[in-house]
Amino acid sequence: MIKLKNVSKFYYSKGVIAAGFTKVNLEFQIGEFVAITGESGSGKSTLLNVISGLDTYEEGEMYINGKETSHYIEKDWEDYRRKNIANIYQNFNLINSYTVYQNIELVLTLNGQKKREVKEKVLQLIRQVDLYRFRNTKVSKLSGGQKQRVAIARALAKEVPIIIADEPTGNLDKRSAEGVIKLLREIAKDKLVIIVTHNYEQVADYVTRKITMHDGKVLEDKTLKEVEKLASPPGNEYKNISMLNKLKLGIRNTFNIASKFILLFLVYSFIVCALMGEYSAFRKEEYEAKKSGYNYIFQDTDDKRIIVKKKDKSSFSEEELKEIENQENINYVLNNDLLADQYTSFTTANQELWIGGTVKSIHTLKGKVDIGRMPENDHEIIILGSKEDYYLNNNYEVLMDKEFYLSLNNTDSIDPTFALKVVGIKYLPEGDYSDYQLYVADSILEKMQFHINQEYSIITVLFMGKNYDSTVYQNDFKLDINESVPVGKAWISEDYQSYCAKSNCLGKNFSITVDNLYYQEKKELTIDKTYNKDNIKNLLGLTNYNTNEFQEKYNGIIYINPEDYNNLFNKGTYQIGVYIKDINKIENTLQTLNKQGYDTLAIKDTLVNSSSVEAMRILKTIVTIILVITLFFICYFIIKIILKSRNSYFSIIRMLGASKKVAKQLLVIELLIVSNLAYFLFVLIAIFNQRGLLHISFIDTVNQYFHFSDYLLLYIIITLMSYLLSQKYASKLFKSSVMNAYREEV
Ligand code: ADP
Ligand code: MG
Repeated sequence: MIKLKNVSKFYYSKGVIAAGFTKVNLEFQIGEFVAITGESGSGKSTLLNVISGLDTYEEGEMYINGKETSHYIEKDWEDYRRKNIANIYQNFNLINSYTVYQNIELVLTLNGQKKREVKEKVLQLIRQVDLYRFRNTKVSKLSGGQKQRVAIARALAKEVPIIIADEPTGNLDKRSAEGVIKLLREIAKDKLVIIVTHNYEQVADYVTRKITMHDGKVLEDKTLKEVEKLASPPGNEYKNISMLNKLKLGIRNTFNIASKFILLFLVYSFIVCALMGEYSAFRKEEYEAKKSGYNYIFQDTDDKRIIVKKKDKSSFSEEELKEIENQENINYVLNNDLLADQYTSFTTANQELWIGGTVKSIHTLKGKVDIGRMPENDHEIIILGSKEDYYLNNNYEVLMDKEFYLSLNNTDSIDPTFALKVVGIKYLPEGDYSDYQLYVADSILEKMQFHINQEYSIITVLFMGKNYDSTVYQNDFKLDINESVPVGKAWISEDYQSYCAKSNCLGKNFSITVDNLYYQEKKELTIDKTYNKDNIKNLLGLTNYNTNEFQEKYNGIIYINPEDYNNLFNKGTYQIGVYIKDINKIENTLQTLNKQGYDTLAIKDTLVNSSSVEAMRILKTIVTIILVITLFFICYFIIKIILKSRNSYFSIIRMLGASKKVAKQLLVIELLIVSNLAYFLFVLIAIFNQRGLLHISFIDTVNQYFHFSDYLLLYIIITLMSYLLSQKYASKLFKSSVMNAYREEV
């Protein structure tokens, strides 16, 4: 069956060559029970390892069933071992964390047998070695003799023609040893059993042949009993372990050593938390940087703002506005979006104090005010601004006790409808130096929206045969409303009388053309009355004007009825500002609006970051990548230490016939189970946090800045990391021949 011809084995270690054995010539047949003896270091174990295909040889030729093996590669040896060899060792090499049953089952599973077929076979073998009582006992709890009997049962389970036992009785007392030898003798009837022993007397009565080694050479080879020459059996036709069984084994290995599982789980939890923490910090910074970007078109750079128009550029109907407002994730709809970008001035009546900013609906103010209180009526407002602002910092009292007037056009007109009082102050996040934002009641916003279109339209007044275009005549022919003026009429300043024949404009007609982004409208009006600084109070009811500045302020204004004004300027809602609730859902909201037939522009997409912010981002990305790599290596070394105890497991299963590939896969499965557990525990905690069942501020940050895609990306990173970790570990563990790997462990 096996023939060695001038075979030598050398060891190379640290530049020194040592001989394991030299020029050995031996032949073994099925049915033999061979004892190899000799003093320690004579090469017995080395010879067994070579015969077992666990170690390579350097010289000569070994024949298996007449075939040469010197050209064998790793895979051929694996195949040979699986078909032909079962090993029994002095130190048993059982898996201590498995039960007797599991140890024997393992061999069968690794060799592709199905669970159904396995059970009877395993129990039968356990009975054969007389351990039925202990079938569900962990091997670590057995005595030495019992352990060796488990090892024999395991060797038998493999159903191979050759059993090789290296000092199987070396660790056993006399009685146990005898039991083991008898058992081996039984087996040897239809197999080849080779046993190495120090104690020849112990086996003398049973063996059929004695080989004595000395100094790496065969000193004596004596046949004691002739054995019947049996034909060489073909070897065990093994199959490969099924995927399901790999998974089952992987699961068993994950949990059967509690301390190892807990340590691994802690390491993975650390990886998950560190990655989540770092990545969410990165996301947060990116988000903040983006938010603090600027552009030259929009004043209100609130990232929750979406500008919405109809695709056909027509005006919105009431129903459409309602429908949009009622959508999920929509907080507030600003009917005239132009207002959001209008820089308005905010002054005291005597103009002692002047500040400017944008106005917003009080509904969009989030959280509590930092100073003062929330408004209680429509004429009370909140100011949002930088904490480092001169007024908002220590001098807020100055702002809080005065009446202010809002005006759209940056002039300092004082309109009592826009008389407001600051009752509360809120600070922007640190480092945000945006303009003031004035949070006003909806009724105020409505009135401002009423006027805003005039600011955005080109108004051409055809007055007595001449066109006065608002782009040129900025202070003349401005339009304003007054309830006293009848519909279709206009009241003009006395100063305009000079434009008319005989300085009398009364009863004359003129036309106004309004041209803006959305429409063009024309109106004919009849001049009805003229006003001057003395009668303006009586006619128009205007009180708060400064007499000295009357000329400048009022003489350019044409007063018309609100109905006429609306016909010119408020022909409908063409562009609205939608403010959403949850920024994380903005993409969904945009999609929904687009599906409903609206054109959208998210303000967050219009912001330009300064190059330093961009550079910061790149730097941060590099830092994150370095961190991930560092983390990988730290974890690799920790996991390597934790798995040190697993090395013997993997050596053993390879000796039992698992291929390198299978061993690797088992390791991958094990690490993936732990990493998945750690990951999904984190996700579970995150969900609990979101539902308010838990309050972990670190996880709140993660929740705030993470989208589903981020979770997915991190899952992929963590899974990939586990995979690479196990690959790296496996390639290290399995880089050498089975015996070398094993030697490093024991
Ligand atoms: P035995 O089993 O008879 O006690 P071994 O086969 O273990 O002897 O060893 C035979 C010889 O090979 C000894 O001289 C031993 O020092 C040497 N040897 C065994 N294993 C190694 C090894 N891994 N590296 C170097 N030399 C070794
Ligand atoms: Mg030895």
